Amino acid sequence: MSMLKDVFMSLSQNQLLNSAAKKYGLRMGAQSVVAGTNLEEAIKSIKELNSHGIACTVDNLGEFVFKKEEAEEAKEKILKVVEAIHENKVDAHISLKPTQLGLDIDFDLALNNVKEIVDKANSYDIFVNIDMEDFSHLEPTFKLLDELAKDYENVGTVIQAYFHKAQEYVERYQNFRIRIVKGAYKESEEIAYLDKKDIDNNYIKITEWHLLHGKFTSIATHDHRIINHLKDFVKRNNIPKDKFDFQMLFGFRRELQLKLASEGYNFTTYVPFGNDWYGYFMRRLAERPQNVNLVAKQVFNKKTNTFLGIAAGAFLLGRASKKNKRK
Ligand SMILES: Cc1cc2nc3c(=O)[nH]c(=O)nc-3n(C[C@H](O)[C@H](O)[C@H](O)COP(=O)(O)OP(=O)(O)OC[C@H]3O[C@@H](n4cnc5c(N)ncnc54)[C@H](O)[C@@H]3O)c2cc1C
Repeated sequence: MSMLKDVFMSLSQNQLLNSAAKKYGLRMGAQSVVAGTNLEEAIKSIKELNSHGIACTVDNLGEFVFKKEEAEEAKEKILKVVEAIHENKVDAHISLKPTQLGLDIDFDLALNNVKEIVDKANSYDIFVNIDMEDFSHLEPTFKLLDELAKDYENVGTVIQAYFHKAQEYVERYQNFRIRIVKGAYKESEEIAYLDKKDIDNNYIKITEWHLLHGKFTSIATHDHRIINHLKDFVKRNNIPKDKFDFQMLFGFRRELQLKLASEGYNFTTYVPFGNDWYGYFMRRLAERPQNVNLVAKQVFNKKTNTFLGIAAGAFLLGRASKKNKRK
């Protein structure tokens, strides 16, 4: 499993395949976990989820942004999503990635782009979540949040339980709306727990702490054992239902999503859309290689086969060139 995880993680970082995937449209099973390639399709999915009492957080997917113009383009697209949420009166907010808005180019560029989005969202009373990427972006993302918090309240971020310092982070952001996740990137044992049991234990520890002391806690996991444990915890501690929500990704465990919503819990589905779906999809395969079933169902599709062929070739080439470099 770990080898497969590494393969998908490595594929998720392949820029060449990312560009190729954009041309192919949703393939390889991605269509079951990405809510379409355009805003109209995303709004349709959001309305459907809203009809079951489920709120949404919308991610206009974007990866590998290294040019100012690309970051500006991403900003314009997200501003359109904010406008569409308002116009369609849907129950939804925004999730965005700082690198998509230019964090790898220049901090101030990213700050100004995110600020424009947060400002517009604020005028419509829409919340903006700043998603957390890998460790190299963690402190710059916290800095973005600190800057934005000087002027706005409609902004929060994500804390990844796999980090040794996760408890310190939840305490630092006690007064924010915080989404707690296990963590989706490959990190080293110097800074992160690698063992599933340790990650799960830390997840429970920091989530309980934030539920007791924080402003609003988003419990973002598909793990029914953790969800059941935390359902008990909130009951025992009389934590009101408006202090937290459960969150899951679009296309995963739909039955459980509907069940939690029907039990009266606030529930939010993370709705990714757009033609830049490739990196997101590979990370989903990396965190749960069983999701490969999604791909397996598609292998008889001719275009998918072509794509998988290119993917496998590029991956093997990448490995070969890395090995050569090592020599
Ligand atoms: C709303 C949301 C937002 C996120 N945002 C970020 C972010 O900003 N940054 C980041 O690094 N990561 C983010 N993640 C990803 C997160 O870090 C994890 O990688 C991902 O959620 C997998 O961990 P898990 O807790 O869901 O369950 P896992 O640890 O993958 O699974 C635990 C157990 O749950 C059960 N299970 C899990 N999935 C399924 C399934 N599909 N069907 C049946 N059983 C299942 C199985 O029994 C499994 O053993 C986000 C996740 C969610 C849900």
